[in-house]
Parts: sequence; structure tokens; C-alpha cells
Amino acid sequence: MSPVTHFIGSWLVASVVTDNPRDRKVVTLAGILPDADGLGLVADVAGALIHGQEPTFQYYQQYHHLLLHGWPGAVAVAGLLTFFARQRIRVALMCLVVFHLHLLCDLLGSRGPSPADLWPICYGEPLFRHPIWFWKGQWRLDGWQNQTVCVVVFVLSLWLAVRRGYSFVELLNHRLDKVFVEVLRKWHDRSCGRRPKVGPAD
Ligand SMILES: [Zn+2]
Repeated sequence: MSPVTHFIGSWLVASVVTDNPRDRKVVTLAGILPDADGLGLVADVAGALIHGQEPTFQYYQQYHHLLLHGWPGAVAVAGLLTFFARQRIRVALMCLVVFHLHLLCDLLGSRGPSPADLWPICYGEPLFRHPIWFWKGQWRLDGWQNQTVCVVVFVLSLWLAVRRGYSFVELLNHRLDKVFVEVLRKWHDRSCGRRPKVGPAD
């Protein structure tokens, strides 16, 4: 699925299973970091621009879904992130859960344009070649199913933000998050026919 869906979906889970901002960020990161193995794309595009050639996407193809989309990556990411957590055991477990949720979502919806462009989960990589999992019914990355999931998690995250007083924007900037939630609450109150209020939500 798209990085945006992974981000918002992981934040949603983190918001439910943690009770403080730091652990929420740590667990959310565990659901995004698997796609860090796709950053070879930046090197591919930069190299192509420098040499004035068409990008070959060599690094992207070579490492994406291989470095950080298996159990070794899950252990490494959860282990590293746990150092930054408050409730370490709980956060370590939840990091493993959202990491695997990311893998499951990729298994469901990471296909390329043609039905043959299935993108498998190589669960033992980069240490072992097996097991390799794929699903023949895998949705297109830009398919309606993925777009529907993205809209659902986005709407749920806005609902939770109005209730809780913080949103996924907190991972980018705390002040921006406050402004964002304030605007959301005003919209919410207006749509409910209530006068906007400034304090915490009910
Ligand atoms: Zn991924």
C-alpha cells in the first residue's frame, strides 16, 4: 500500500495501543520504516539526473521489499525503536505488530499495473531466501481497493483526532498539529450545529 496509508494506519493503531506521545510516535515509525528500503529510488533518480539519462530504478528494484520487509527487518526495527520508548516491552510488541501489519497490507495491495506484476513478501530476506509469499489476487498499488482503505483510515484518524485532541500531524510538528486539530474541531462543531469550543473534546 501507499506510504500515506501505512503512516496514517500505523498512527491509528499506535493511538489505540499506547498512552503517551513518545510511544505513539515510536509505534507509528515501526509501521513506516519498512519502506525505508525503497529510498534507493532517490539515488536512482539523482544518478539519472546527474548523468542526463533515463532512470533505471536499479537500487529501488534491488533493495525495495528485500531489506526491511522480512522478519530480520522487523526484529531490527523493533529492537532499535524500543530504546526510545517509555513502556518498552509493550512498545516492542506493538512495533512488531504494526511492522507485520505493514507487510500484510503490502501483500494485499502492492501490485504493479499488469496482473503479472505481483510483489511478493520475502519474509526471510535479507538473511534467507525463503519463505516467499504472494497473493494472486493482489490489488494494484493505485487500485480502488487501496484508495478505499486510504480514505477509511484517513476519516477514522480525523474522527480520533477530534475526540483525542491530537492527530497524525504530531509526527511532523507539534504546533502544526494543534492548529490542525483546532480547525478539525471547529468543522466538527459546525457540522453538528454546535458553537465551536476551545478546550478538550468530550
Ligand atoms: Zn512496504
